[in-house]
Amino acid sequence: MRIAVAGAGAMGCRFGWMLHRAGHDVVLVDGWAEQVAAINQRGLTVDDEDGRHVAVLPALRFGARGLGVPAADLVIVFGKAMQTERIAADSLPLFGPRTWVITLQNGHGNIEVLQRHVAAGRLLAGVTTLATELLGPGHIRALGSGETLLGPVHGDATAAAELVAVAAALDGAGLRVTVTADVLPGVWTKVAFNAVLNPLCALLSVPVGGLAAYPAQALGEMVAGIVDEAVAVAAAEGVRLDRERVIGLINEQFDPAMAGHHRPSMLQDLLNGRATEIGHLNGEIARRGARHGIPTPHNWLLLHLVRMLAATRPWRVATVAGGGEPGPQPDPRGEPSRTVGPWEGERET
Ligand code: NAD
Repeated sequence: MRIAVAGAGAMGCRFGWMLHRAGHDVVLVDGWAEQVAAINQRGLTVDDEDGRHVAVLPALRFGARGLGVPAADLVIVFGKAMQTERIAADSLPLFGPRTWVITLQNGHGNIEVLQRHVAAGRLLAGVTTLATELLGPGHIRALGSGETLLGPVHGDATAAAELVAVAAALDGAGLRVTVTADVLPGVWTKVAFNAVLNPLCALLSVPVGGLAAYPAQALGEMVAGIVDEAVAVAAAEGVRLDRERVIGLINEQFDPAMAGHHRPSMLQDLLNGRATEIGHLNGEIARRGARHGIPTPHNWLLLHLVRMLAATRPWRVATVAGGGEPGPQPDPRGEPSRTVGPWEGERET
């Protein structure tokens, strides 16, 4: 199968590597020049529990002059949620009328953006529990194994036999795929899960296990407040989000043996001065809540606190990582500070 990965950061490279290893014709496409150059010059380096692997596969850079390759059989979109609009527009040469397009990104909004660009019935969405770290240009660490839930958006996929073949290709590469006719509860579950763990860890600058240092009852009230708002908004959109399951999944993470030392991506992005997906997690819960007349004070506050944390970074009296010298204090009459995204000029939405 000819597969393009559009947005080849940590997860895009992980999926691309696994599919390449399984014998598919894979190209990685990204806007980050150093990433593309490193993969083309040195191959993609993947560290996992078996050691170090180097895969030789091509990388292309999104650019004004197009990509110079024909439409793919399958495109997997794997940028951060705030990059999806741009990736979708830059990926148009890859999207033919028969191309399947998959988003397994976190956050809300990816499906809506891609639906505007992808042929009717050819968009698949889902979530994955695989975790991957980007160690540097052309170099990732593949953490453990995971499962991937995948299904047509709004149950509107055409060509069910072809869909089975796509799922089988991913499954055959070790991605442990389950196909569902009703994918939105899975997408909402991951949004609610991330809407709790990502901003709390980012605001407090702690790995997931650190949250358990707070008294369990008080932490539980906080978690329930955030999740209950997501449950109410999902219900208003016709999606049944299983409150107890989401809370159970979150509580499991406090166990150091599960994910206690894991630093959620929002924490890593803030520490690196990069844009976060907060607008597509708590921000979307709050925005959709407002549309349905549902109050979402927990999610609204977390949205603004994370944005304030990013915007006030140059003013911090000590680094959020704990210790270190304070950064230079900006002139309050000068330019307001801004968060610069991974690609030049990119902004959170
Ligand atoms: P990522 O940050 O590794 O990559 C996203 C984009 O940012 C890529 O285009 C990448 O090239 C670019 N980028 C990264 N570092 C850069 C740098 N230093 N300079 C310039 N550009 C840079 O994102 P990801 O972790 O692969 O996540 C993609 C999507 O998958 C997100 O929606 C995320 O929430 C979701 N997700 C991630 C994981 C994970 O373990 N990483 C797991 C499940 C889902």
